Amino acid sequence: MEKDDLKSLVTEMYDNLIENINNQNEVNKEQVVNYLRESVDVISSISDDKIDSIEHAKLAFNNAYKEIANKSISSYEHTNERFEKLTQMQEETLNSYSDSMIDLPSLTDKFNDIQTHMMDEVKKANTIITHLSTQVENLEKDSNLDSLTKVFNRRALSNHLANICSNNDIKYELHLLILDIDDFKKINDNYGHIAGDKILIFIANILKKTLRDGDKIFRYGGEEFVIILNRIDKEHCKKITDRLLTLVSKNQLIYKGEKLQVTISIGATIYTNSDTPDTLISRADKALYKAKNAGKNRMYSEAPSGT
Ligand code: GH3
Ligand code: MG
Ligand code: MG
Repeated sequence: MEKDDLKSLVTEMYDNLIENINNQNEVNKEQVVNYLRESVDVISSISDDKIDSIEHAKLAFNNAYKEIANKSISSYEHTNERFEKLTQMQEETLNSYSDSMIDLPSLTDKFNDIQTHMMDEVKKANTIITHLSTQVENLEKDSNLDSLTKVFNRRALSNHLANICSNNDIKYELHLLILDIDDFKKINDNYGHIAGDKILIFIANILKKTLRDGDKIFRYGGEEFVIILNRIDKEHCKKITDRLLTLVSKNQLIYKGEKLQVTISIGATIYTNSDTPDTLISRADKALYKAKNAGKNRMYSEAPSGT
């Protein structure tokens, strides 16, 4: 995402929020304004003309996200206050009838009234929450981050690869890895889709912890990740992939009391200045295919032709 895109996204959110707050007289207006100003400041302080660090993008994203969550909580609080008032009304109504003759039809009317008020409040709250959820979804789409694993998404990968390949004078070694979870379908079949999702988050977390900030992690497809390693040689690349293979296979995820264990296979290749995004990816894919055929839980690499 271009810096200007991110900046205008946050500014737009800022404007939307202020408008909403003004319409609804929310109490924590100052807090909201401060948070959003902070987000804009974070983005303004990034000196490159591209967002190059996932941490920066995430920080800005999280700040904006936090505000949406805050607002959603405060609208619930607002609703709760009104509920308290309605409960009070209900009690008062009951008390007013305790010492006198009960007029049943009018009591029923009053309670029906209260019920209708309550339903209105719930409906209002639900409308607000639905609206906020849509805003969160849009924000996630525009942020270039995958909403499940919080690594860059496929759209970000396309932009990044186009950038790399348009600069056909890269002087340092750049390696691309495709990483695919082995027998993932079995995890879903045996433990369910939610267990599968937890495994995806678990792998993404291992990648984030193991790789350097300058390395890029993308979710390429369902259970596939792409990693771009900058400025390293072949031996170093092998060390990293060995470490990833070991970390994934030796760690377990406990899900509902069950120990889930997975392995991954990796296809690797080195970038050459004549590569296009397609040639680069398809070479790594070819290597991945070989790693799978050779028994999985391993890395294969595919050299560019002519090297
Ligand atoms: P292989 O070792 O050959 O890679 O086998 P595999 O089972 O991992 O590969 P296959 O392509 O047959 O199945 C991939 C499975 O990944 C199928 C699909 O249900 C699952 N999947 C894709 N995206 C998601 C997701 O976001 N969450 C979950 N839980 N499962 C997903
Ligand atoms: Mg796959
Ligand atoms: Mg797989």
